Amino acid sequence: MQAFSYLKPGEPPIFKDRFITKISETVTPYKSGMRGDLALIGMPLSRLSISMSKASDAPAAIRRCMGSFTTYSAEKDLDYAGRTIVDYGDIRFSPAAGEVNLERIYTTVGEVLSTDTCPRTVLLGGDHGVTYPSVKAFAGRFGKIGVIQLDAHHDVRNIEDGGRTNGTPFRSLIEEGIIVGEHLVQAGIRDFANGKEYRDYARKRGISVFTMSDIEREGIRSIIERETVRLAKSVDMIYFSLDMDCADQAYAPGCPAAGPGGLTSRELLAAVGACASNEKVKAMDIVEIDPSKDVQDMTSKLAVLAMLAFYYSQ
Ligand code: CA
Repeated sequence: MQAFSYLKPGEPPIFKDRFITKISETVTPYKSGMRGDLALIGMPLSRLSISMSKASDAPAAIRRCMGSFTTYSAEKDLDYAGRTIVDYGDIRFSPAAGEVNLERIYTTVGEVLSTDTCPRTVLLGGDHGVTYPSVKAFAGRFGKIGVIQLDAHHDVRNIEDGGRTNGTPFRSLIEEGIIVGEHLVQAGIRDFANGKEYRDYARKRGISVFTMSDIEREGIRSIIERETVRLAKSVDMIYFSLDMDCADQAYAPGCPAAGPGGLTSRELLAAVGACASNEKVKAMDIVEIDPSKDVQDMTSKLAVLAMLAFYYSQ
């Protein structure tokens, strides 16, 4: 039999340092009765997008990029190799358009929450249309919900013109009484990227809006910390919705609506950390990554770091 010096058939021929654990090695498929630290659900859906989008490929790209990071936090000098990410896999969507897939997200998130496996959940989009049924499912489980949305856009477009899209999730949540405007914080709103009508809608509904200039003046950490504390006083749970197009195109090129004038990757991570340190924050979605537009996985890698900032904040 042929003996190999550097090959072991059946094992990937990769360099493995026995003192280093990769995040991907802490991911375990869900099995009934197990306990973990973070639940992961993939939502490969981009049929709700106004523009061309392959955001349906993002859950796979983000999972692959988990192999690029170790479990050791240099900032905290802690190794989290002992923690477990429980992966529920991807939701299987219908090829049909319309509300059927929103129903599937609502049902699946509710079912995952009822397994009571992990204290926190990360939902990998998909485009921003997934947030409406997802928040609705969390509201069903936890009660009164506050939402912190990091986004270049308001996403409160009218529903009458084209039904529910990735431009309408927060309007849907408000119009259906699932959240109230006073419990929605939008940070990262960018110049010349929205219509005045929708800023007026936000104002009328009592939504707290922070533009990029507000962030420049006060600092993202201070804004998110303050708003998280404010929300925590009046809601049962806080949901963090991360539209990756809040980051500048220089840091997150793989977004269908990528543009200049946004957050740096450091500001994005500071915002996640500032919010997630509060124990009422139980879920985060990461949406609007189109891997076919990305450059060397920059955007998917930033998404993994955001997930880790959320996961290891407590
Ligand atoms: Ca959005």
